[in-house]
Amino acid sequence: MTTNCPLCSSIGTTFFKDEKQHFYLCRTCKGIYRNTSEYLNQTDEKERYQHHKNHIKDLGYIKFADPIISSVKKYFNKNHRGLDFGAGHTPVISEILKNVNYQVEIYDPLFFNNKKVLKNKYDFITCCEVIEHFYKPKKEFELLYNLLKPNGKLICMTLIYHKSIDFENWFYKNDPTHVFLYQKETFLWIKNNFNFQNVKIDNRLITFTK
Ligand SMILES: [Zn+2]
Repeated sequence: MTTNCPLCSSIGTTFFKDEKQHFYLCRTCKGIYRNTSEYLNQTDEKERYQHHKNHIKDLGYIKFADPIISSVKKYFNKNHRGLDFGAGHTPVISEILKNVNYQVEIYDPLFFNNKKVLKNKYDFITCCEVIEHFYKPKKEFELLYNLLKPNGKLICMTLIYHKSIDFENWFYKNDPTHVFLYQKETFLWIKNNFNFQNVKIDNRLITFTK
């Protein structure tokens, strides 16, 4: 079976299929994407996110998010303007950064749908465990690119699939809200096709520079 890739519109063929799940692999951008018939409706999706543990007091999550926080602190100062895109129900990253006086707005289509913040431009945007939830990755990366100032950085965190991972037993694909999974090549495709200057991949931290 084939279907068009939601990132690059090229053809994808079946990559994995069992009784419950069906993923395609795009031949061009190497993205791995879920069959659209498995997408949750917005009510179920929201319900599912409410169970995602990302509380400000959750030390495990704070440690988990540390590569993003460290990266913001390394490249930006308190005069820069940031956006936490896809903040979820509890905007931990922006809270941590605000506690040390960074300026960070929050946006989340389900929990903080404040379209006003999408009218500004930002020096940095954080996307912590967000991009694997994109139903329309092309549209979302276009939006993220346009929200950045020149030389701004888009700092993402997601688990990257590579060939040594046993996909059938990979926990990351079992979350029904994980609909688009990335390989290294996918990030290079995004960099080249959205005209980012640069992309740096460091384990689960992916940083694009406009
Ligand atoms: Zn593709």
